[in-house]
Amino acid sequence: MPEKVIIIGSGPAAWAAAIYSARAALKPLVFEGAITEENRLASTLPLGQLALTTEVENYPGFPAGDLGAYLDSALPGDSRRLMAPHNKEGVSGPELMELMRQQARNFGTRIVTEDITDVDLSRHPFVLTASDGSVHPAHSVIVATGARANYLGLPSEEKYKNRGVSACAVCDGALPRFRHKPLAVVGGGDSAVEEADYLSKFASTVFLVHRRAELRASKIMSERALGNPKIKVLWNRALAEVLGNDKDGVSAVRLQSTVGEPDLTQDVTGLFLAIGHTPNTAFLKGKLELTAKQYIKWTTPARTYTSVKGVFAAGDVADDYYRQAITAAGSGCMAALDAERWLAAKGF
Ligand code: NAP
Repeated sequence: MPEKVIIIGSGPAAWAAAIYSARAALKPLVFEGAITEENRLASTLPLGQLALTTEVENYPGFPAGDLGAYLDSALPGDSRRLMAPHNKEGVSGPELMELMRQQARNFGTRIVTEDITDVDLSRHPFVLTASDGSVHPAHSVIVATGARANYLGLPSEEKYKNRGVSACAVCDGALPRFRHKPLAVVGGGDSAVEEADYLSKFASTVFLVHRRAELRASKIMSERALGNPKIKVLWNRALAEVLGNDKDGVSAVRLQSTVGEPDLTQDVTGLFLAIGHTPNTAFLKGKLELTAKQYIKWTTPARTYTSVKGVFAAGDVADDYYRQAITAAGSGCMAALDAERWLAAKGF
């Protein structure tokens, strides 16, 4: 028997879609991704980008409080024992994702810890193939596989991830380690200038490191950044190495010149990469309409419809603009409602 709905992904969009479709009695089946070395290296392990962050202070409903006690009561012992002990107030990204996953399970969501590696959307029911070779027919599909932030791929950058190296200023910028300290942002697009502007509220100085002598960002956002007294642009510079130590994390960055000047070492306590994102859509190429940047194309304003009827997209895999946990969760809810109505209209 085909599934009524298969959800691919395990970030906020996927779990919100699972919670809503489970409560609508659609018995969702979630492919949360496989736990493999390949996925670890690509930052695409189950639970998505939030599982790679630390504190989450901007997800409504999780103000500071005794979340340790809440986690103990909300999650089963076997899940809870595997998590780092909760030693602070507020919620962390991994905790928030475990809670969403558990909430989906509470309503009967079935979860498979495999990737979907291939889809046949040219016939109906659709046919999905998982990384263990199993084949799953489905009347509707919600794709919520997210996107991953691009990093430069330097070993020192990897070493200090979450200890001063981040690719999300809005997620991490307000953390105590970055307050009143010099920070660096790499990139020259709208994201980079926006992140630099945002970080300037907390930092003593923000060094915007760009590999050329001209920003790619829009004029209005460039002017705002260039006019901000706390932002200093380091033109024609590329990150060569992140410096630091095991105790404090990042302490400085070494920057190469792209125009033949000597290297420059700049003291910073944080480094933010803003060099674009890559959506996790490789398995959909040629199967679903994608944008020029390989995001899934939403075909109808304010709906989660894609180019194939019965296939819906939610979260960062279709959104290169907002990229927030709360917007992803919101569109996951929308996708579940869209799928439910589509299935009802078709009589499935
Ligand atoms: P983007 O426009 O593609 O810019 C990426 C930047 O990173 C470019 O400046 C690029 O340098 C640099 N870069 C890429 N690879 C690099 C590498 N290996 N080493 C060093 N630098 C590297 O990406 P984005 O800024 O994330 O923006 C994506 C889209 O979202 C854009 O359409 C943007 O307008 C939009 N956006 C809008 C807003 C807003 O309006 N509020 C905010 C954020 C994003 P080069 O310039 O040399 O190529």
